[in-house]
Formats: sequence, C-alpha cells, structure tokens
Amino acid sequence: MADLGDLYQQIIIDHNRNPRNFRKLDDANRTAHGDNPLCGDKITLYLRLDGEVIADAGFQGSGCAISKASASLMTSAVKGKTATEAERLFHAFHAMVTADPLAPPDSGSLGKLAAFAGVRQFPARVKCANLSWHTLHAALEASPTPVTTDDRTTGPGAGG
Ligand code: ZN
Repeated sequence: MADLGDLYQQIIIDHNRNPRNFRKLDDANRTAHGDNPLCGDKITLYLRLDGEVIADAGFQGSGCAISKASASLMTSAVKGKTATEAERLFHAFHAMVTADPLAPPDSGSLGKLAAFAGVRQFPARVKCANLSWHTLHAALEASPTPVTTDDRTTGPGAGG
C-alpha cells in the first residue's frame, strides 16, 4: 500500500521524466531566467500574459529532478490563473517548503504541489524546489535582474 510520501515521490518522478510545458513559447510576452548555482539548476521561463491572466506558460533548462519537476508542476498550476492568484500560490508554496518538517502540508490549497513538502528535510533542496517559483515572480514583475539563489549576490545590504 502506497503511503502519502510514496505518492508524492511518484508525482516528482513522473514530472521529472515527462516534464509538462517543457517548451519555448514563441509568443511569450514575459520571460525570466533563474539560476541555482548551488546545484547547477538553470531555467528559462516563458509566460504569455493576456491582461491579468497567465494564458500560457512554458520553460526550458536543465537541472536536478526536483528543479525540473517543480518547474513542470508550477507551470501547470499557474496556467489560467491571474498574476495575483499565481503570486498567492508562490507564497503558499514557499511557506510550505520552509515550514517545520513535522507540520502537515496544506494540500487543500496546493494540490499536487504538496508533493514538495518532503524537501523541508533537505535545506539544499529547498532552493531547487523554489527556483522556478522565484523565476515566475521575476517574470510577473518583469524584473530585468536574473534570479539567483546565491544569497551573496542579492540583497539590499551592498554599499551601505
Ligand atoms: Zn537542484
């Protein structure tokens, strides 16, 4: 009998082997690049925004199973949502993967994204799972700065 952990693992394995939306969008009007040098994950995210709605989403890149499965599930989850709804999902996801490892995931609002609850036990993997979401945030903000999970190159402290 498969328990919840096995089911979640199956989702990640499936999305790593057969990533959804793994393509460049030729008609994208937002793109952003994400880089996780700690693991070697790279992602380019393409969005087609129709007003406030994310009409289509795709990604390309290379990286570990967690980062690829996360990008696959993320693009699937935000398609058809408004930018505001997608940002809300980003915050819910971020809260889940950085929460106490013993707390149960909020699968009600996150659905299949709750599969990543297990990364809480592996702090290095949290950046892999979060990379596509941070890249989504940058694309929605139309931020010209590439996303990196390397904290040393970001933050407001420089030059103070
Ligand atoms: Zn990774």
